[in-house]
Amino acid sequence: MRCSHCRKCCQETMMELSEADIARLERRGFRRDEFSYIGVDGIPRLKNAGIWCFFYDPEAGRCREYRSRPLGCALYPVNLDQDGEVFIDPLCPEAQSLDRKEVQLKGRRLRALLATIDAEASRRGRQP
Ligand code: SF4
Ligand code: SF4
Repeated sequence: MRCSHCRKCCQETMMELSEADIARLERRGFRRDEFSYIGVDGIPRLKNAGIWCFFYDPEAGRCREYRSRPLGCALYPVNLDQDGEVFIDPLCPEAQSLDRKEVQLKGRRLRALLATIDAEASRRGRQP
């Protein structure tokens, strides 16, 4: 797809994070508690700073860690609904630029990612 960097998906983000996402960002020099929090469901999510994602630079108009961004950000605007069906978030103005193959591929990767995040949340919940 052709991202037009319209900023919409970096505003008031609730992006879920895997341990691999967190570790990658920690290797970039960030502390997990400054860029993420764990919700009551045991799932880590990106923090916001004001209306923007912690990693968004509103002056430069871009993600400060684009190359190391969470996998969920890279797969967006492909998303899964509550029944696990793939859909394209209509909030993204470039949603129509994804072809069927890209949607299928990203949908498979997103399913695997969310399964990993859920498994990690379960393990976290079992820790003393
Ligand atoms: S990590 Fe980057 S791409 Fe993802 S929501 Fe934050 S600013 Fe946007
Ligand atoms: S909403 Fe879509 S076009 Fe806008 S920054 Fe996000 S991915 Fe790019």
